[in-house]
Amino acid sequence: MASLRCRRDPCGVICLILTYFSVFYADYVVIQYVVIPAYSDSVWCALHGAVFNLILLLLLACHSKAVFSDPGMVPLPETAIDFSDLRSQSSRMNERGCEGWTVCSRCETYRPPRAHHCRVCQRCIRRMDHHCPWINNCVGELNQKYFIQFLFYTGMASLYSLVLVVSAWVWRIRSEREGESEKETDESPSKHLIVAHYIILLVESVLFGVFVMVIFYDQLVSIITDETPIEQMKNRLMLKDRSSASSPASLSQATNHTPHTRKPKLALLREVFGRGSVLFWLFPLHTSPPTVGGITYSALPDYDV
Ligand SMILES: [Zn+2]
Ligand SMILES: [Zn+2]
Repeated sequence: MASLRCRRDPCGVICLILTYFSVFYADYVVIQYVVIPAYSDSVWCALHGAVFNLILLLLLACHSKAVFSDPGMVPLPETAIDFSDLRSQSSRMNERGCEGWTVCSRCETYRPPRAHHCRVCQRCIRRMDHHCPWINNCVGELNQKYFIQFLFYTGMASLYSLVLVVSAWVWRIRSEREGESEKETDESPSKHLIVAHYIILLVESVLFGVFVMVIFYDQLVSIITDETPIEQMKNRLMLKDRSSASSPASLSQATNHTPHTRKPKLALLREVFGRGSVLFWLFPLHTSPPTVGGITYSALPDYDV
């Protein structure tokens, strides 16, 4: 039900349609108005066409994996939690090695450390980064890799189409000056139409390129600092509380906060991208979910309700 509700999010559906439309439009303009006219007499025509379409194919594969993969939803309990006895239950959980587990009052379930509730998906997501309308899904522990790969290939496609459009435009201006421009027939597209397509694709490439590069950088920083944007915000708020107000509640909250273990950057990257070769990080291949502190995240603790 929750995943269906997520799919029905109007903003997410619009963003999905916009993503597919932008990809197919870019491919249409690059093939029809850039590669074929500018490189028709050389091997570059087939080469540019093949490489650009390969990047788009990988982009769409990573995107669909990010859209349809489980981001790491915390399973709902079969029986409801008895909220009247939460304190003793949480101490019992700590005794069983489930330290840091909390209770979500909206899902009415126990959740592992670093899991947060998403209001759009209406479920708790393990190591939730954020809810992304562009994939109409949460970015969490199990699909962050696909999301970052999608950003990477979108950045590559934007840069590639930018270079292709600029070079085709320069070629067109040069050949016009030299009087080599192909004689316009009734079937050939008008000059204004070509220029309009070039401008639209340039704007699309710059906008998407800059947008994904900023998010890509943020994602890498959050991985190597081992802190999701939600945790960054929470930690900042806690520090603010600690420095300004010295209320007992905020102090106890701040002292209860346990910083994440300081792991090497490569180990943190491997937790997201998998333990195989670095080359495999480029492909949307399934890797087994990571385990933290001996607890497999896919299992619920052995609690009594
Ligand atoms: Zn929840
Ligand atoms: Zn979500």
